[in-house]
Amino acid sequence: MPINAANGDFAGALHYSTAVDVLKSEYQRDGLDVKSLLDSDKRGGLTYNDFLILPGYIGFASHEVTLDSKITKHISLKLPLVSSPMDTVTETDMAIFMALLGGVGVIHHNCTADEQAEMVRKVKRYENGFILDPVVMSPTNTVGDVRKVKAEHGFAGIPITEDGNLKSKLVGIVTMRDIQFHRDDSSPLSEVMTTDLITAPEGIDLAEANAILRSSKKGKLPIVDAAGNLTALLSRSDLMKNLHFPLASKVPDSKQLLCAAAIGTREDDKERLRKLVEAGLDIVIMDSSQGNSMYQLDMLRWIKKTFPQIDVIAGNVVTREQAANLIAAGADGLRIGMGSGSACITQEVMAVGRPQATAVYSICEFASRFGVPCIADGGIQNVGHIVKAVALGASTVMMGGLLAGTTESPGKYFLSAEGKLVKAYRGMGSIDAMESQKSSDNAATGRYFSEGDKVRVAQGVSGSVLDRGSVTKFVPYLQAGLQHSLQDIGVKSIDALQAGVRDGSVRFEVRTVSAQAEGNVHGLHEFNKKLYA
Ligand code: IMP
Repeated sequence: MPINAANGDFAGALHYSTAVDVLKSEYQRDGLDVKSLLDSDKRGGLTYNDFLILPGYIGFASHEVTLDSKITKHISLKLPLVSSPMDTVTETDMAIFMALLGGVGVIHHNCTADEQAEMVRKVKRYENGFILDPVVMSPTNTVGDVRKVKAEHGFAGIPITEDGNLKSKLVGIVTMRDIQFHRDDSSPLSEVMTTDLITAPEGIDLAEANAILRSSKKGKLPIVDAAGNLTALLSRSDLMKNLHFPLASKVPDSKQLLCAAAIGTREDDKERLRKLVEAGLDIVIMDSSQGNSMYQLDMLRWIKKTFPQIDVIAGNVVTREQAANLIAAGADGLRIGMGSGSACITQEVMAVGRPQATAVYSICEFASRFGVPCIADGGIQNVGHIVKAVALGASTVMMGGLLAGTTESPGKYFLSAEGKLVKAYRGMGSIDAMESQKSSDNAATGRYFSEGDKVRVAQGVSGSVLDRGSVTKFVPYLQAGLQHSLQDIGVKSIDALQAGVRDGSVRFEVRTVSAQAEGNVHGLHEFNKKLYA
């Protein structure tokens, strides 16, 4: 019964229900459930900026929030962050650091198949519990050969076997110390290599091998079989890296970093994929701006039959109808977005696409019924957008422009006309990207251009983005931001957030244009928007 203050009925207040009971019995929940929010009949399609999530109850510290999420049916990440397969975003360095930090990088295919496979190989080699395919040399290789490997790969600790191959008898090891002051590059390694070796037997577990490596004070520990043949290598610098990247995305058995790469859907992409798989690829993304096509369905079936061990992400899609075909053909994940990318003009030119928040909700709700995780791809400009994408059902988000200004993206920084430090960023459907490929191994044009076309119609622009520093600082900032956001919402994990959205306990509100203005900095003469420290 409500208190009737007008009658001076205050004494009775002590016996009345608490505010919480009154709230429950007499009010509907504040805000909207997700279905009412995204009722597109009423409102049209929504973007991330068109709504907010209402706060819940904070009953835990933000560091307790976990962000584990699936990227495909079979593979999970500790952070729901993926870098886009664009030639100004993801090559070797970005893929390595995204994986080390808990996400994953998707290596672009605007290059030859061999170049792309080499990038995959470098990611897989970068950090290993055991390096299963180390660079090996023979005693007749030269000091110059070792210097070349150092220049190309950054390491010089190379085991020497009788015939220069793995599975051959280990006879020595060469390190930087052995060659540093050696003047003659043509000297054979037999003259400089160390032959007094500490090794570990095949079958040893990683913890034991690490203990030997630590006590040996050496940089590398060769693993040998009973006959003394080299079978693997353990590296001290990997040991150090393991300590610094506790969230690293790794393949459970080999401890290699997880690596994804994009391909097209042409006949020669089959050969490209063979090379990528040989290099150790874990996840392949079929890169198309409109994934609901006979090309992609055929390719998907072929990949599932030929490489059943590889998880395949199909897309892009923005409607349930597109998604249904790909799910039925066996997709292990979907990529959602058409026209929402920061360098994209698809919606303007092609008149097709969909506002991203609506697309994400519509497809994720459908795909979750078949256990297919979805990537919300494009239009992520800040931490809030990531939270909203995940709240609408996305398992991970894919970022292009947000990561393109980091140290780990391809290309060099340069000064813009206003004197700001920037890096190039371009849509893969920009004329620039389409024309950058000279070989027949053409990928960018495969995504946005058909072979027979005489005129190239751009679906993207090329430009630049501001310097963002290293992803080793930026990704942890995104992570901490996500944890604080989920804490505000009152949920301790991505699973809990999505469950709360499903059962209606996580609430939303539409944001009018003036609400958007209110929610941004306003009324200041000038300000400095530093995002993290
Ligand atoms: P961003 O994170 O908003 O910069 O969007 C990145 C996404 O934009 C990519 O992952 C692609 O899905 C998409 N994209 C990349 N290049 C183009 C283009 O030229 N036209 C349209 N979309 C593009």
